[in-house]
Amino acid sequence: MAKYIFVTGGVVSSIGKGITTASLGRLLRNRGWVVAPLKLDPYINVDAGTMNPYQHGEVFVTDDGAETDLDLGHYERFIDVSCSAGSSITTGKVYQKVIEAERRGDYLGATVQVIPHVTNEIKRGIVDLGRQQEADIVLAEIGGTVGDIESLPFLEAIRQMRKDFGKENTLYVHVTLVPSVGPWGEIKTKPTQHSVINLREIGISPDVLVCRSDRPIPDDVKEKISLFCDVPVEAVVESLSAETIYEVPLMYEGLGFGDLVADRLGLERREPNLQEWREIVGKIKQPKGRCTVAIVGKYTSNGDAYKSIAEALIHAGIANDCRVEIRWVESETLESAPDPSVLLSDIDAVIVAPGFGERGVEGKIRAIRFVRETGIPFLGICLGLQMAVVEYARHVCGLGGANSTEFGNDCPYAVIDIMADQSKLVAKGGTMRLGSYPCNLTAGSLAHRLYGSSRIEERHRHRFEVNNEFREVLIEKGLVVSGVSPDYRLVEMVEIPGHPFYVATQAHPEFKSRPNRPHPLFKGLVAAALSRRSVALVEPKNG
Ligand code: GLN
Repeated sequence: MAKYIFVTGGVVSSIGKGITTASLGRLLRNRGWVVAPLKLDPYINVDAGTMNPYQHGEVFVTDDGAETDLDLGHYERFIDVSCSAGSSITTGKVYQKVIEAERRGDYLGATVQVIPHVTNEIKRGIVDLGRQQEADIVLAEIGGTVGDIESLPFLEAIRQMRKDFGKENTLYVHVTLVPSVGPWGEIKTKPTQHSVINLREIGISPDVLVCRSDRPIPDDVKEKISLFCDVPVEAVVESLSAETIYEVPLMYEGLGFGDLVADRLGLERREPNLQEWREIVGKIKQPKGRCTVAIVGKYTSNGDAYKSIAEALIHAGIANDCRVEIRWVESETLESAPDPSVLLSDIDAVIVAPGFGERGVEGKIRAIRFVRETGIPFLGICLGLQMAVVEYARHVCGLGGANSTEFGNDCPYAVIDIMADQSKLVAKGGTMRLGSYPCNLTAGSLAHRLYGSSRIEERHRHRFEVNNEFREVLIEKGLVVSGVSPDYRLVEMVEIPGHPFYVATQAHPEFKSRPNRPHPLFKGLVAAALSRRSVALVEPKNG
């Protein structure tokens, strides 16, 4: 039977509950336990797929095609597991199941209520995930902050789980903020105390408090928290801001968090294997080189909208022993700039990001033309591939006005068109081409060399595709289709031979990159960026 850890948040949101959960998962993984991470999200959307990236950040896609909260990306990257649809439970999903059951008549005339029907459905989801993944530990993070109305059924469900499975099999971790205020930066425990009072009112007494603080928490303050919040002082875990998020598991390990959790859950004490993680953090903190990669997108004012891309670049930096600085470039600003070189000056590579809708696409096309013509390393992702094809059609194949039908049906050359099986779909939620699909790579192509394999699988999230009516002319004019679906129907990757690095993919490679297994496309892009940079640095001297 699995053990259950529940991570709740208090005081304010955005204090790093997701990173704490992911880091705790890493501590347990380092001890050889099978961890199944899970996000319980109180919002009523069935999944994150219909949510605006400005508000909610990136939509993370799992292998089995679930559109989820970006925290699942942290779990995958830190714990090195693959999440599935069951790793994300939302209020919307729970109610959908309860209402379906009610319509089927499963409740046999009962009045359907939050307790027990909704809470039972939540508990079933948590237990089922542990079973499906044969987990030693289910590590469940509850979204939102204690005190929110909408998280109450989730908190009630996890409260009941202690009764169902016993104290030795359940652990409540509460992440709070310990702010410092006033001219002397006095550390204040009151918000934490109140947050714990809130939890207690619901019937949950936390076993561990993770206290986020800007400055080290002195022992007497920890003792105060311990006394007022009724947790042993060793279970008051200080959580300071780290130089890199990947350092947090090491920080926690140093504070004995891993052993504390193992002891509380009655797990045998195991020596954690920290070597791989130490190497990762060492590489991030002491890189030899440096390069700058521009990310051209339409949600750049909220970097969380491209979380996995940014993380994949950090991983590629680890592999290339360099720090990758990101320059966020709002695609719309590229439309009005007199010359794209102004916004893309002094950069070593460009990523054109995924996206939906027309806003900013002409800026993306401009950026792609610029990198194609100037030899700047380029990676196009999803909409980035589609705009690369549009750009090539317009400026190399002579198909003026070429475009994607996503932006209207009246363009003269619809080089990107809706996929046949998508055209009749009306509902927006969960209906795209989603999840992992295989792709065959052309022998000798750059993609083939980078992946080192002729058959790959990547995760997808799109409705449109390269229109096969134009495949021939694109190929004739030099674009190489380096990746296709096994039935040859879908263009999955394109590239331009002779260019230092020009690859675009219909998939989202960023979702599969891990710090210990950087993704080949990002790794290759950063390697190309570094060699461009070294040439740029040498050239003026020679000249
Ligand atoms: N909007 C495009 C499509 O639906 C691209 C999607 C994406 O970039 N994820 O096909």
